[in-house]
Amino acid sequence: MIHPERIQRLNEHKARRENFVLYWMQQSQRTTCNHALAHAIDLANGLSLPVIVYFGLTPLYPGANARHYTFLLQGLTVVRDALLRHGIPFIVRIEDPATGVVEMARDAALAVTDRGYTRIQRTWRAEAARNMGCPLVQVESDVVVPVETASSKEEYTAATLRPKLKQQRDRFLVPLEEREIENRLGTGPDSLDVSDSEKVLARLGVDERVPAVNWISGGQDEAEKWLEKFIKEKLKYYDTLRNDPSKDYLSHLSPYLHFGHISPLRIALRVMSSGHTARHAFLEELIVRRELAMNFVHYNNMYDRYDSLPAWALKTLEEHAADRREYEYRRKELEEARTHDPYWNAAQRELLVKGKMHGYMRMYWGKKIIEWSASPRKAFDAALYLNDRYSLDGCDPNGYAGVAWCFGKHDRPWREREIFGTVRYMNARGLERKFDIRAYARAVEEECGSGAGDRR
Ligand SMILES: Cc1cc2nc3c(=O)[nH]c(=O)nc-3n(C[C@H](O)[C@H](O)[C@H](O)COP(=O)(O)OP(=O)(O)OC[C@H]3O[C@@H](n4cnc5c(N)ncnc54)[C@H](O)[C@@H]3O)c2cc1C
Repeated sequence: MIHPERIQRLNEHKARRENFVLYWMQQSQRTTCNHALAHAIDLANGLSLPVIVYFGLTPLYPGANARHYTFLLQGLTVVRDALLRHGIPFIVRIEDPATGVVEMARDAALAVTDRGYTRIQRTWRAEAARNMGCPLVQVESDVVVPVETASSKEEYTAATLRPKLKQQRDRFLVPLEEREIENRLGTGPDSLDVSDSEKVLARLGVDERVPAVNWISGGQDEAEKWLEKFIKEKLKYYDTLRNDPSKDYLSHLSPYLHFGHISPLRIALRVMSSGHTARHAFLEELIVRRELAMNFVHYNNMYDRYDSLPAWALKTLEEHAADRREYEYRRKELEEARTHDPYWNAAQRELLVKGKMHGYMRMYWGKKIIEWSASPRKAFDAALYLNDRYSLDGCDPNGYAGVAWCFGKHDRPWREREIFGTVRYMNARGLERKFDIRAYARAVEEECGSGAGDRR
């Protein structure tokens, strides 16, 4: 069943007597547990038409580089093969998606799309809905509770969103039955060969200075493997050990969630069925924290700017903007992990080389950027730049909320101190007290080396 709250019409056009139903895949880059694909198949079967799936591959995605595009192409290759097995052609073209989809929809009875929350994704959909000659229907599949159903406004903290989600959650925690298309197609219009990633990267002309990583690869099959490994080996320790950077009890599902290679609904249902008591701690992160980030990005159009911070945080940070900094680093020094702090450098090295930093270190990392930057505004921009450039899961609502959290978003005022004002502070002594943080730094050095990670 697809809840009606997941479905929204984006224009007023009437369905036409045409040749196929178009699914414009953009956010939910998968064939399993994809409500938008399921809805497109339902509509096509109702009209006795085939489905064609289109993906517009833009070379201009802000902040994206070879690391991100490689992961994305790995995922699209799996999607192509899975769709073809089901008689659904997959057309990928290098072009602006909002323009490309209008062209693709020229002979379509109607078009369905999925839902991402960032500004660029929203802009694409609005532009396509305006210019398309057929209906464009949006189906939300990358949150458990649709964002407007969860709340009609920007929430202050997890504490204000949690009870609202709790009220709705069980209603949406139901499996999606996979559909079969009745009118299969063997081939469709010409498509880019997404499996030849070297060639595609060259054609895209993307920034190759941030290279692909080799410890994790994209695709819905890989996402399932990481999920099963997490449930088998780590979930039972998640509530007690997830914060310890010297141990690895995280799921590593964030890159897959970011690219839509797996649905949060699928993860939640699988984790719930495991029966482990630690599932509650995991679902808090996956549903409450993640959907708080979606709420932020959906309702606050300034989500990637310093000015999106709550008034109390802006006031206190500005009051302390001129405080003396014991250490001050420029963005380049931060980027190259050249600070006096071995733990911070280790975290930055993880980011540079692996494209993923331990979740607890992400908080420490962001806090220290505030402490060591010439101003809080410069700190905000540096943190976001580094996060988006090097994280496989960067440019994501979670990243915008995560960086903003370091500056007081979704948090409350604490004891006043220099530079931070009343924004929460973190220090190295805390890391040393709680964890074997030297073991973490040693492990990163072994895996990622200790020099500058960027190839420049
Ligand atoms: C400064 C900073 C920057 C961040 N940047 C990003 C980013 O670019 N992309 C990103 O996906 N997350 C980001 N986060 C949030 C969080 O750190 C990551 O989601 C998490 O580390 C991802 O690793 P995992 O999937 O192994 O986590 P797990 O602990 O296994 O969590 C499972 C899933 O729950 C969700 N989740 C976990 N922690 C959080 C959290 N604090 N907030 C929201 N959702 C959460 C994620 O979807 C995650 O994939 C950032 C946090 C901070 C403090």
